[in-house]
Amino acid sequence: MLKIVKYPNPILKKKSEEIHHDDKSLRSLIPQMIEAMKKNQGVGLAAPQIGISKKIIVITEGEEAHAFLNPRIVKQSKEKERDEEGCLSLPGLFVGVLRSKQVEVTAETLNGQKIKIKARDLAARIFQHEIDHIEGKLIIHRISPLAQWKLRNQLKNLAK
Ligand SMILES: [Zn+2]
Repeated sequence: MLKIVKYPNPILKKKSEEIHHDDKSLRSLIPQMIEAMKKNQGVGLAAPQIGISKKIIVITEGEEAHAFLNPRIVKQSKEKERDEEGCLSLPGLFVGVLRSKQVEVTAETLNGQKIKIKARDLAARIFQHEIDHIEGKLIIHRISPLAQWKLRNQLKNLAK
């Protein structure tokens, strides 16, 4: 069972590297990431959260889970919405994060196919959250300095 990397592990702040779809490690890694996400009741998981600095994310959609390689946001709506988010790497912490309501994401599938996904509402939020991870950003980097300051004790406890 993969262990989830928690804040303040520096890997979470690193930019991930591109992954090639025929990288042999993916065959065991993807099922393990999906299992770890489900066991921890997450709706998405990015490779840095299991200690691997590669551009791989998994996302749930209802009962199904999907993997995306090298995902990138190519378009995002000006219309934004604030909603509460949590993160498996920041256990117990929930913050309101402003995100675009709609995004277009390009990615590659496990067989190397280039795809474009249009996501809205919760799905758009999950994509933005997970793509942030592979760019080295966490939800605490998406909030105001005041909101960060209010979380200072919780963050200190997580860093213990
Ligand atoms: Zn997260």
